[in-house]
Amino acid sequence: MASILEVKNLTKKYGNTTVVDTISFDIQEGEIVGLLGPNGAGKTTIIQMLLSLLAPSEGEIRVFGKSLVENREEILEDMNFATSYSALPYNLTPYENLKIFSLFYGVSDYKAKAKFLLEEFDLGKFQNEKTGGLSSGEQMRLSLAKAFVNDPKLLLLDEPTSSLDPVIAKELRTKIYNRTKIINGTILWTSHNMREIELMCNRVIFLYAGKIVAADTPKNLKRQFQKQNLEEIFIAIVEDQKTIV
Ligand code: ADP
Repeated sequence: MASILEVKNLTKKYGNTTVVDTISFDIQEGEIVGLLGPNGAGKTTIIQMLLSLLAPSEGEIRVFGKSLVENREEILEDMNFATSYSALPYNLTPYENLKIFSLFYGVSDYKAKAKFLLEEFDLGKFQNEKTGGLSSGEQMRLSLAKAFVNDPKLLLLDEPTSSLDPVIAKELRTKIYNRTKIINGTILWTSHNMREIELMCNRVIFLYAGKIVAADTPKNLKRQFQKQNLEEIFIAIVEDQKTIV
């Protein structure tokens, strides 16, 4: 298995405050890895550094075996992301949005790709409506369709189902999983839904105050912490860390 993402001693400081503190982890090809932690733990900051939107204060990020800072443009062509807190252009139709993002990523058959993803994410009937008029669930489906326009080798998902009802969230998880397997993708997935992470992820990284405090498969973590599920582990970690800090 090839290493898709290698993070070494990654640190982000704002003034004297360290919000991501010397973290290191690897993700191998085909893995779906959960990044968990309470609000403010540093998850979004890490995702933003992986997307080159934020410069690390220290440390190194290697994607597809190459330094991100030295090969930014080439690497970003094979990455993508989706988040529930940033919307796609409201005035465009879902089809136009998918077409433009496909073009942006240099997809040669961009019209066909946009049409395919509209159908794949059940957005066909909205293709001529404005994106701004869609419900939050429909907009999230569109954001996820957009995240697959370039068949990304590495997909970063920042709380992709946080605004959705359980039925739509389940449908979307299935779509994300199936599509990822078809394109042989790899995912780093943040969520506060522990059941979702347990269902989807091969491995889980727990963050607390910018540091990795546990990392393993859900099965091994349950054994290590002697808990029934990730939710109980999450609560145990947070309570434990509170007594240390
Ligand atoms: P999470 O995604 O795990 O909720 P974030 O990565 O959003 O956490 O935030 C981690 C910490 O970094 C928080 O304490 C947050 O207040 C702080 N932070 C984020 N952006 C800035 C900034 N621009 N300046 C100062 N502190 C920031």
